[in-house]
Amino acid sequence: MRNIVFIAPPAAGKGTQANILKENYNIAHISTGDLLREEVKKESLLGKQIEDKMKSGQLIEDEIVTELLENRLMQDDTNNGYILDGYPRNIKQAKILEELLEKINKPIDHVIFLEIDEEEAMKRACGRLTCDKCGKIYNIYFDEMKPKKENICDDCNISLTHRADDNEESFKKRFRTYMESTKPLIDFYQNKGLLNVVDSSINKEHTSKQIKKILK
Ligand code: AMP
Repeated sequence: MRNIVFIAPPAAGKGTQANILKENYNIAHISTGDLLREEVKKESLLGKQIEDKMKSGQLIEDEIVTELLENRLMQDDTNNGYILDGYPRNIKQAKILEELLEKINKPIDHVIFLEIDEEEAMKRACGRLTCDKCGKIYNIYFDEMKPKKENICDDCNISLTHRADDNEESFKKRFRTYMESTKPLIDFYQNKGLLNVVDSSINKEHTSKQIKKILK
């Protein structure tokens, strides 16, 4: 089974690598950030409550994110495997996840830690553009990741979106939160024998090759 958890600083390439894995192995890509952004877009009551927090780079309450995640994990497309992108973000969430996955009998097979330094991650965040339709991620600062036509998705031919929290100030806050709350998960999963470290600082092909080796 390919049940995978990504742990990484913001903009390390979780979304890009998850899209590649989803295509190659036909498994579900579950991004809690995307689930939350969908709520904001729908302008639901929940969306209105979380919008400002997300924009400024703060974490959303564990209970809210966990409920969205639980509903998503129940869907049939996760039976073949899943990639969790953005959850858990702290030890409390990791423990909640452990219980939840035991209950639905979908335990984690691999935890993949994408390693990158703050300066490179900031460049990736500030230049990032996303297609809301197909989820493809572009970047204006890297030639190999630029869209063919400025600000237009190569595949869907629609305008790309720049995330509201992909600015310097919000990025720095997200990075600090990552160092304080998320990084301790590395030891947590190392102790469980599930951790794999991948250098994500070169380019997406280099990162993808290392991940494929782990999944073999
Ligand atoms: P991401 O798309 O993973 O970069 O997440 C974007 C934003 O969504 C984060 O900065 C948080 O505000 C929120 N978020 C995503 N996942 C979680 C989570 N597991 N716990 C709390 N907040 C989250």
